[in-house]
Amino acid sequence: MILITGGAGYIGSHCALYLKKAGYDLVVLDNLSEGHQEALQTDNFCHVDLADISSLKEVFKKYPIKAVIHFAASCYVGESVSKPQKYYRNNVVNTLNLLDTMIESNVKNIVFSSTCATYGNPEYTPIDENHPQNPINTYGTTKLMIEKILEDYDRAYGLKYKTLRYFNAAGADNSRDIGESHNPETHLIPLILEIASGKREKIKIFGNDYDTPDGTCIRDYIHVNDLSSAHKLALEKLLAGSDSNFYNLGTGKGISVQEIINISEKVTGKTIKKEFAQRRPGDPPILFADNKKARLELNWTPEYNKIDDIISTAWNWEQNRKY
Ligand code: UDP
Repeated sequence: MILITGGAGYIGSHCALYLKKAGYDLVVLDNLSEGHQEALQTDNFCHVDLADISSLKEVFKKYPIKAVIHFAASCYVGESVSKPQKYYRNNVVNTLNLLDTMIESNVKNIVFSSTCATYGNPEYTPIDENHPQNPINTYGTTKLMIEKILEDYDRAYGLKYKTLRYFNAAGADNSRDIGESHNPETHLIPLILEIASGKREKIKIFGNDYDTPDGTCIRDYIHVNDLSSAHKLALEKLLAGSDSNFYNLGTGKGISVQEIINISEKVTGKTIKKEFAQRRPGDPPILFADNKKARLELNWTPEYNKIDDIISTAWNWEQNRKY
């Protein structure tokens, strides 16, 4: 059985669906602070907060867990800068609770959700896994701290990990009614699609004076099902006894905020009202992945290589969303 923490959240629920389709037995742990009951993909659901160590221990006693996929975290770059306390507690302290419970229960395999935000301002692009890690926001710092903790726990306790550094997760699985739903929503593509569907008036573009071709920030948007396929491959490696390692998960293509707006207008057939605003603290100008390592070592191939297709799946979700 595989434990998925944060399995009611956006990426966690998609990964749960993907693994369920592949025949895995799952147990999902989520405190539902950001996740959604409707997104759950299994009846084995533990409504538990990782801060609650005794309930956490019960989960490991109740289910025969072989490995953990750890999504549960706070994940807003902007908020992490204004509320670092929340991020250190929820991401770092609560992950320590999880890791310590795993070791106590002799569960020694974990796939960990990290982020390209651990790299900070790129010294070169595309960003490979050897790029220096100097995060410029608290969210990235908390994830980097956990990466370091995992290295130490491997050395000392033999905990094996596959750290996956996501670039920008996007899109939805349209075979089930699941998709991205944050409250408040802060992510670019869902905000734009809420404008297209008439729920919101306009998008603020955070900075148009960056050193990029159109002055807006460049990111690498990766479809959430492609993230899920990488988790499955990483999990299978771990279960086969493979060593700890870390991988970038992105398409390898950088797309600007302005380009995302233009393509969203094409996909939805609607005009997206926009205005230029201040840069958002903690935003590096350009982030896109060198994904060779994951392709070679995990045999991973992202299937969604066109941003239009990724946005289309998010648009389908936006038009039919249940939560
Ligand atoms: N962004 C923007 N306006 C918004 C939200 C995001 O211009 O209302 C920009 C943001 O500055 C970044 C990109 O869109 O360059 C992606 O941001 P998002 O919050 O979706 O993901 P992040 O990169 O923070 O993980």
